[in-house]
Amino acid sequence: THIPTTTLNNGVQMPVLGFGVFQVPAEEAERVVTDALAAGYRHLDTAAAYENEAGVGRAIAASGIPREELFVTTKLWIQDAGEQAAPAAFDRSLQRLGLDYLDLYLIHQPYGDYYGSWRAMEELNRTGRARAIGVSNFHPDRLVDLIDHTEVVPAVNQIETHPFFQRGTDHDVMRQRGVQHESWGPLGQGRDDLLTYPLLTELATAHGKTVAQVVLRWLLQRDTVVIPKSSRPQRMAENLDVFDFSLTEQEMTRIASLDTGVSAVFDHRDPASVA
Ligand code: NAD
Repeated sequence: THIPTTTLNNGVQMPVLGFGVFQVPAEEAERVVTDALAAGYRHLDTAAAYENEAGVGRAIAASGIPREELFVTTKLWIQDAGEQAAPAAFDRSLQRLGLDYLDLYLIHQPYGDYYGSWRAMEELNRTGRARAIGVSNFHPDRLVDLIDHTEVVPAVNQIETHPFFQRGTDHDVMRQRGVQHESWGPLGQGRDDLLTYPLLTELATAHGKTVAQVVLRWLLQRDTVVIPKSSRPQRMAENLDVFDFSLTEQEMTRIASLDTGVSAVFDHRDPASVA
């Protein structure tokens, strides 16, 4: 499969579809990522907090795929926030991944001294150790404040986005500010009520596709990068096979009606819900 790329605000090319490894146990990560690379994924999304970077790194090393053909993202966890702690956490992530640079380094959640983290990440970006830097789980107010008070505009904001939580206002703010919208939980983390929703099932049948494929396609047509996760090779292949059909304007509008405006997981503005 040829996976198209999007050009980030600093010129870096990011594949619009990648593979996420949240909740993949450390001992399974090497097998799962090996299968994902074999299926054709070249963009991987992990995080220090997932505790599986080492397994991801072993799979990358064993694959023999040239480094420049891969796009690897990891994330800075909240306990490592700040100008001193962030570079050390970055070094540990790189070491576990067995890499000497990252394609994208994200602030995982906006808590603690994330301005300090950002200054450290700007330096990692300047020296080329992180080709792009960005954020995750930033609502528009925090995102705009960060942009207005630092030098480098985040290349990406990775936020929960799926048909039940569409993030239209967030998307518009990001587009105006040159920040690429990336979806986490594109499939609603496998929720049955999404993957069996009648309207989505109807559209899937009409296109000879699955609901998962329709949802990923809908996100891609809204200029949103997707990183679905599956441990099963058959679903890995299914989730990649979304470049041979398009949803019509009318179908896009019908899916727009499913937005509840509410997170299906938790609201990142509530500090009490942060792990
Ligand atoms: P997801 O929406 O990708 O759902 C994954 C689940 O959906 C799988 O476990 C499986 O149960 C099901 N599934 C996958 N493919 C399917 C298919 N073709 N048919 C039917 N069911 C299918 O959820 P996710 O893993 O939470 O999100 C994707 C990635 O986003 C993560 O792996 C991670 O990399 C990232 N993420 C980031 C944050 C953050 O705070 N930045 C939070 C959650 C996830």
